[in-house]
This record gives sequence, C-alpha cells and structure tokens, in this order.
Amino acid sequence: MVTATVEIPTHQDVLSFVGAPRTMLIGGKWLDAASGKTFPTYNPATGEVLAHVAEGNSIDVDKAVTAARKAFESGPWHTLTASERGRLIWKLADLLESHLEEFAQLESLDNGKPIGVARAADVPLAVDHFRYMAGWATKIEGNTIPLSVPYTPGVRYHAYTLREPVGVVGQIIPWNFPLLMAAWKLGPALAAGCTIVLKPAEQTPLSALRLGELICEAGFPDGVVNIVPGYGETAGAALAAHPDVDKVAFTGSTEVGKLILRAAAGNLKKVSLELGGKSPNIVCRDADVEASIPGVSSAIFFNQGQCCCAGSRLFVEKGIFDKVVAGVVEDAKKIKVGPGMDLATQMGPLVSDEQQRRVLGYLESGFSEGAKAVVGGRKLGNKGYFVEPTVLVDTTQKMKIMQEEIFGPVVCAVPFTDLDEVLQAANDSIYGLAAAVWTRDVGKAHRIAAELRAGSVWINCYNIFDAALPFGGYKQSGWGREMGHNALELYTEVKAVTVRL
Ligand code: NAP
Ligand code: MG
Repeated sequence: MVTATVEIPTHQDVLSFVGAPRTMLIGGKWLDAASGKTFPTYNPATGEVLAHVAEGNSIDVDKAVTAARKAFESGPWHTLTASERGRLIWKLADLLESHLEEFAQLESLDNGKPIGVARAADVPLAVDHFRYMAGWATKIEGNTIPLSVPYTPGVRYHAYTLREPVGVVGQIIPWNFPLLMAAWKLGPALAAGCTIVLKPAEQTPLSALRLGELICEAGFPDGVVNIVPGYGETAGAALAAHPDVDKVAFTGSTEVGKLILRAAAGNLKKVSLELGGKSPNIVCRDADVEASIPGVSSAIFFNQGQCCCAGSRLFVEKGIFDKVVAGVVEDAKKIKVGPGMDLATQMGPLVSDEQQRRVLGYLESGFSEGAKAVVGGRKLGNKGYFVEPTVLVDTTQKMKIMQEEIFGPVVCAVPFTDLDEVLQAANDSIYGLAAAVWTRDVGKAHRIAAELRAGSVWINCYNIFDAALPFGGYKQSGWGREMGHNALELYTEVKAVTVRL
C-alpha cells in the first residue's frame, strides 16, 4: 500500500513558480524557446503535470554558447578578481540557504523524493558545496619549477605554471539529485572562472531554473551561467557536440556517457563523466551485524535506490547471511512509501513512468532467471510511479540484475565464504563507482579497501558525502573526480611559462 497521511501544504513561492511556464536563462535574460515549444514536467507521486518548461533545442543551445563565450572573453567576469568570484559563489550559497524550504519542496514535487530528505540532504549539501568551492576561487595556484635545460648550458630560466579556466563549459545533469548535481557542476566551474551552459534533466528541470533566478539575484554577470532545459537527444546532444564548447561535464547513464564522448570528438573538447554503478556492499562475519543492517538498507533504499553509488550487490559472509537478509527485509517492510510531500514518507515514487517500467522490467528479468524476492518485487498502487522496496536472493553473477544498473529500490543478496572469492565477485563488474565493507578487523578492512576497484570505498558506513571528498568512478563508471580540490582540475588548463633570465 502507498501510505498517504498528511501532505504538507505547498509553499506559496513554489505554487507561483510552477504556476507559470518556466523559461530559459540565456545571457542574463529569461527567454522562451526559439521554437516556442514547451514540455511538461510531472509530479511522480501522482503522474500529473507539475509545470510547463521551455523546450530548448540546438538553436537555443547555440545562443547560450554564444552568450557564455562573450561572458568568458570580455565583460566583467573576465576581469573579476578571484576573491570577487568567491564572494559571488558564497552569496549564491546564502541565497539558496535562505530559500531552503522552497527548494526542498520544489525538489520533492519534481523528483518525488521525501521532503525530509530534500530538507536534510539535497539543499544543505548544495549550499555547503557552493561554500566549499567559493573558498577555492582564491586558492587556484600554479608552481615555480627549477629548470636544468641541458642544451643551453649556463643559461638560466625562470619557469612557472598558471592554472587558467578551461573556457566555456557544457554541463549535462541527471534527475536523481537535480539541485545537488547542478551545485556539483556549477561550483568548481565558477570557482575556476569558467562560463557555463547547463542542461538539467527533462524529468526535473525546476530546481535548476529557480537556482538560475538566484544566480541572477546574486549578481553574476550576464552570460556566466546559462540554463537551457530540454531533451537529451536535442538540447543535450547539441551541447555535447557544439564546436565552441571547450569542455563537457556529464552525469548520467554509461550508455549516454559514451554518446557524449563521441559527440565531443568533433572539436576534441575536454570530457568528464560521472556514470553508473553496481556497487558491492560486503558484510563480513566479524562485523557489528546490528550496525551493518541499517547501513546496508539505507545503502540501497536511500533516494528510492536512484543513486549511482547505491549498494545494489550485497555480499554477506555465510553464517550471518540469514540474519543480515532478515534484518534488511524487516527494514524494507517498515519503510513508509508514499508521496514525497507527506512528512511520514520515507520512500517516494521513482522519478518517472519510464523509470518505473525499467525497474519492473529488471525484476521480471531476474525472476525469469531464477531470482526470488524475499520482500517486495512489485509496483505499488495505481497512481504515481511507486515500486516496493525489494530484496532478491538466489541470484547468480551472470544474471542481468547482477550486472546492470537497476537504479531502483532493489538489492541482490549473495552469500560468500572467503575473502578472495568475494573480492573477485565484487570486482566482476564493468562499473567501479563505490563499494563498502563492514568488519571489525582493521587490517582486513584496509586490505579490502585497497583491492576494490572503485572510486569511493566506505568502511562501516555508506553514502558518506562531503564537499571536500573527491567522487568519481573507475572503469565504466566515469572519467575524472568531482568534489574536493580534484574537481578544479576538471575546469582548469595548466600553462607553463618560461622566461630566459
Ligand atoms: P540519461 O539518459 O543518461 O540522462 C542524463 C542526462 O543526459 C539528462 O540530462 C539527459 O537529458 C541527457 N541526455 C540524454 N541523452 C543525451 C544525448 N544523446 N546527448 C546529450 N545528453 C543526453 O539517464 P536516464 O535515461 O534519465 O536514466 C537511465 C539510466 O541512467 C538510469 O536507469 C540509471 O541507470 C542511469 N542514471 C545514472 C545516473 C547517475 O547519477 N550516474 C543518473 C541518472 C540516471 P534528458 O533528461 O532529456 O533525457
Ligand atoms: Mg518531474
């Protein structure tokens, strides 16, 4: 049953924001699409249209890139000091924080996530990310380098490096954490001095567009941030292929990541990719089992399982397998599934009917190959895009559900007997985004951390994110690291300058 108790009243500012068709931000102006077209964005809890949004295409993308190029090469942004850039980013963080409730509601309505999660995680993490990156604006430095050029004996040189903004950046983001993904992308690019064309996901364009209004209010010069909502195949593809874009940063599926790479080849723009995952979560017999169970549950069920780093493959050592699975099943049964705007809701709907169909398709495929659901396994209700929290057993390594990213509240639980076996199985994936291990043995924990081929490894915890911690994937989970100072590398070029003395 989808439980609905008391939905909170919608904030007046949210009502007025969704009440009018939303336009796109280009060169500091809010414009309709060149085609005049709009597309609907839906409330996933009801399937009803939430708002209408301008549908950008290649013409709008081209206009936005021209505005971003102009802002990069001339105008106030070009000459702003690093400190002034930092202060603008900080001001944006303050503005966002002062609109926390409004953004939390917008995110809950557009994406479906529980309002409590949006209030406690999405919006505060985005605020914190902007603040962290604001601090970096004044700390992007080069080096001085001693030269010993052998073919010019006796001549001395003074050499140093500069870190310069990469230029006009295209950023394409997904729907699972719409505002936070915008912050991860915009923060370091702005700190580095780039100008940006951002394309939010068609399912969840609203929080990025509202953020665009705050960007204008904060006083960023026109054209520094341009936001073009639209479909991936049109607006997204045009941005990835645009010859005047210097770099494209993408978060989403591995499949589309490969398309981005091909599109970027035309002008060899720089590319960073944050893609899918099939993250192993390993519980050893010597773990604090009671503490590991809620950790394992939230690793998969948080955000309806729509996390690139979701702990979707659960490996449990024989001897405690039944206990851990029973604990996760109990947790799954207790989760209150309902509309995001209901304060009692712990798990909302999936983002779209398409995503619901995709997840149900994976479940069917698993069942046809012999997997069994200990709990869940079906859709919930007749309205909205709900899926039951699901724990599958009797899965084998070769099954599609063990290999592919389901991106829903579905975990495959597998028993293991020894460490080498579980490490081999954990690394047997095209992905390498995240992984976790639960054990009280410090040596074992670090050995496992060293051997897992993943960009993030959590020990006795899961989903710990911080603006200062780099995040990104090994293997087909991506290229580059976002967050931390590593993110600045994605948005800067290094120039070596040599002076003959
Ligand atoms: P997706 O297609 O990869 O979408 C991500 C972003 O890329 C969206 O802004 C999308 O626009 C855009 N896009 C789509 N096709 C494009 C193209 N040809 N050129 C440029 N941009 C393009 O993800 P999805 O279809 O929404 O979800 C499919 C699966 O991707 C999920 O089931 C999940 O496995 C994975 N996924 C991963 C993440 C992650 O954080 N790693 C996030 C979301 C989804 P539109 O929204 O208009 O299509
Ligand atoms: Mg929506």
